[in-house]
Amino acid sequence: MISVGERCNGSTRDSSGDLGCNPSVPVQVQVLPVANQQFNQQADGVADTNSQAAELLSELERTKAELQEKTLYLQTLFETVPVGIFVVDAETRLVLDLNPHAQKLIGAKKDQIVGYRCNNVVCPAGDRACPILDFGQTIDQSERVVLTKDGRRLPVLKSVVQLVNDGHRVLVESFVDITEIKKAQTEILNANADLSTAQESLIAAKEAAELAALHDPLTKLPNRRLLSERLRQVMVTSTRSNLKSALLFIDLDDFKRVNDTLGHDAGDILLQTTGCRLSSCVRDVDTVARLGGDEFVVILEGLSESQEKAANRAKIVAEKILAIVSQSCRLNGRECICTASIGIVVFGGQRDSIDNVLQQADIAMYHAKAKGRNGIHFFAPALQEAIMARAALEEDLRQAIGTKQFVLHYQPQIEAGNVVGVEALIRWNHATRGTLAPAEFISMAEETGLIVPLGTWVLETACKQIAAWAQSDRTSDMTVAVNISARQLRQPDFVQQVLDAVNRAGANPRNLKLELTESMLLENIEEVIGKMADLKVHGLSFSLDDFGTGYSSLAYLKRLPLDQLKIDRAFVRDMLTDVTSSTIAQTAICLGNAMGLSVMAEGVETSEERSLLASLGCHSYQGYLFSPALPLEEFEQWLRGFALGNS
Ligand code: C2E
Ligand code: CA
Ligand code: CA
Repeated sequence: MISVGERCNGSTRDSSGDLGCNPSVPVQVQVLPVANQQFNQQADGVADTNSQAAELLSELERTKAELQEKTLYLQTLFETVPVGIFVVDAETRLVLDLNPHAQKLIGAKKDQIVGYRCNNVVCPAGDRACPILDFGQTIDQSERVVLTKDGRRLPVLKSVVQLVNDGHRVLVESFVDITEIKKAQTEILNANADLSTAQESLIAAKEAAELAALHDPLTKLPNRRLLSERLRQVMVTSTRSNLKSALLFIDLDDFKRVNDTLGHDAGDILLQTTGCRLSSCVRDVDTVARLGGDEFVVILEGLSESQEKAANRAKIVAEKILAIVSQSCRLNGRECICTASIGIVVFGGQRDSIDNVLQQADIAMYHAKAKGRNGIHFFAPALQEAIMARAALEEDLRQAIGTKQFVLHYQPQIEAGNVVGVEALIRWNHATRGTLAPAEFISMAEETGLIVPLGTWVLETACKQIAAWAQSDRTSDMTVAVNISARQLRQPDFVQQVLDAVNRAGANPRNLKLELTESMLLENIEEVIGKMADLKVHGLSFSLDDFGTGYSSLAYLKRLPLDQLKIDRAFVRDMLTDVTSSTIAQTAICLGNAMGLSVMAEGVETSEERSLLASLGCHSYQGYLFSPALPLEEFEQWLRGFALGNS
């Protein structure tokens, strides 16, 4: 705004810029019109100023009204908003003001709070302290606590802004009560926890129900339903793997009597004991189930490709079961013995069905009962016969060892037209079945361990023969080759057993040759080499039998202290018609020569075979071309004839 004085001064400046009056006009004359003019001008100015002041005044009024309106508006908001508001001095943290909602939440009058430190109520001890805010900083919706007058700690969502009011920094703290939200949150959490507990119990109950549905409650063994399922699986795997499995149907012989005389409690204990005993007889992969009553079923899985071998394994387990089940059991203070009858079915073909297999085993079990209980019966009649025959033979073999039913036959070995030795081959003169070849009993003797006493007998007999032949010039140089089985060789005192046989007979160890096969040399090779070396020190020699049929590896062949390779008779038989066989024979001959070993061909039946072998460099033969294995006297007779023919 421009002042009145300024206006005057401005109008009296001359062109030179000096202050002053016109010198040619008398001062009075000059002054009047000027004063007049000035007055008028000033009057105009006052009028202007007045109107401006009025304008200002009304503007001020308007602003004041607006301000009042706004203040009222803010005041109303402050008074009525359902949010607690505190105004706090930023420096001292003393409460300057608080709105009615804040008073309501805290349950205190304004004058009980204003002038006191804010943390008496907002963010009290135990809650997080309110941070010192820089100007313009805010806290937004932070979860805090407000302490009410009656001692409750209200959860709130707190926001803080910092403002300047009347030159003072103040904090405006607003908070909303979230008690209900918190309650709802807790309820949701609790409900969730309850839900998971309920879910867990549901799963547990479902599992328990499934277990109960598939297991017998008394013995905890699989029940008929689970058994059918397992049987179905075993049939699928048996068909795929080509391995036979067996199902054993087991029925206790005297269960009814136990139940009737000792009570159902005793019966239950007997069933539980039987369940445990059955489980102890089988492998983990096998299944023991209770069908109901005193009937149990055992599935023996993947026994063997051969029906007969599978049956034999099943029989071994069944015998174990009979033995363990018939052990005494304490029932109601009394010792009881309860035997069982077992029906066995070997299965694995695609034609078998679950019901068939179970039915057949059941029938077989009734046969076992009919035969006088505490026994085993196979379903297939032919198999039953084979099993029985084998069992009978096994028993016979046991008896035969002590009763001199064995003899050695001798087959000559020819080299450069001379009989250089014999192979001793065992025969069993069976009381009712005539002379049995080794194929009919050697594998059984090996499985049962009877090969050890049998092998000792062979060694002793062969040594006696060596000693006897030492008396005649014609036979004193002949070696006697004895077949040694794997189980014999594994005996820790094998070396001593052989030496004892040699010494007892007074035989020259140089005349004794031991025939080993490749497969028995693979296991514990160091031990085998040691035993061979020990015996060689005493003059014995070694021949590798059935050469070419095993897993010959040059690496180990080189390390074995061998004297001879025997080409297996299968190659000799086929060498005239099959290139592979003649190649193998040729390779064996070359290999033997290269390693400094003699090579003997066995199973030479024709002169063509002998000629071919000779052309390949093999000059030692054994076979029907010369003679089969013969009993001692016939052999000696043959030998005399051979000598005559050669002389
Ligand atoms: P091996 O040691 O390979 O014995 C040779 C077998 O071939 C003998 O059968 C013999 O009679 C037969 N053989 C010999 N020449 C010919 C031929 O020209 N043609 C045909 N087709 N066969 C011929 P054997 O006596 O039946 O013996 C069979 C197997 O039994 C033997 O095979 C041997 O592994 C085992 N064995 C025989 N005696 C004993 C023994 O005292 N102890 C042990 N552990 N095993 C024995
Ligand atoms: Ca042999
Ligand atoms: Ca052989």
